[in-house]
Amino acid sequence: MKTISVEDVTAAVRRLCMQACTVLGDDVIQKLEQCRGTEESAPGREILERIIENARIAKSEMIPLCQDTGMAVVFVEIGQEVHFSGGDLLDAIHEGVRQGYRDGHLRKSVLHPITRVNTGDNTPAVIHTEIVPGEKFKITLAPKGFGSENMSRVMMFPPSAGIEGVKDFIVQRVEESGGNPCPPIVVGVGIGGTFEKAALLAKKALLRPLGTPNSDDALDALEKELLERINRLGIGPMGLGGRTTALAVHVNVYPTHIASIPCAVNIQCHSCRHAEVEL
Ligand code: SF4
Repeated sequence: MKTISVEDVTAAVRRLCMQACTVLGDDVIQKLEQCRGTEESAPGREILERIIENARIAKSEMIPLCQDTGMAVVFVEIGQEVHFSGGDLLDAIHEGVRQGYRDGHLRKSVLHPITRVNTGDNTPAVIHTEIVPGEKFKITLAPKGFGSENMSRVMMFPPSAGIEGVKDFIVQRVEESGGNPCPPIVVGVGIGGTFEKAALLAKKALLRPLGTPNSDDALDALEKELLERINRLGIGPMGLGGRTTALAVHVNVYPTHIASIPCAVNIQCHSCRHAEVEL
């Protein structure tokens, strides 16, 4: 049995908030550079250049990549042999978000959905916990901007829609989103499960490092086909035209009910931020 102090959890979440909001992953930078080399549109190349330069400045000066530092989405993998001491785990995560957004001078964007009164400290976070074997304890923190989150959708298809109906829906969702989600985007897709499972699959798909192939050959082919169709739409970087509308399409699947094909599309902007740590 491994014991982890919740104080260490708070400290780790605090660090992750600041890291994720200021440092873009090497995988994203590499993909942006690759697309800058192949983009046909001059404004598109210019915007990709600015995005790369913005990431370089944010990292070197430890300032946010974007003014929208998002709502903190936290994925926690908890080994069944792990015990937490000193308090409540979920409280510790919320406290880490509170401290990270305060100390990192990150924008507080979280409010009551009806009264629209800001909570003042960017809490609560959205926390997804998963029990895993052994003594693993991993935290992944993904600040989610809502320019792209607002463009996301869940659709419950009848089986008669088939995979072609699902593919058309995904491409159409990107087309209708246009420049709103700050392209180039990453498209997370969840197919199967239930209404909420599909959305979670899509969200988790955004965490896969860019450039990593899907471990399932059929899904890998589907991702490539969707990416090609999306990049033929001509939306381009920040919607100003070009071939770089999406950096990647990632698809996760799960068995579903005989009466349905749930499909979720979670769109991630070019500020594709997440950071993780194992304690
Ligand atoms: S969608 Fe992304 S890049 Fe656009 S404003 Fe929001 S966080 Fe920033």
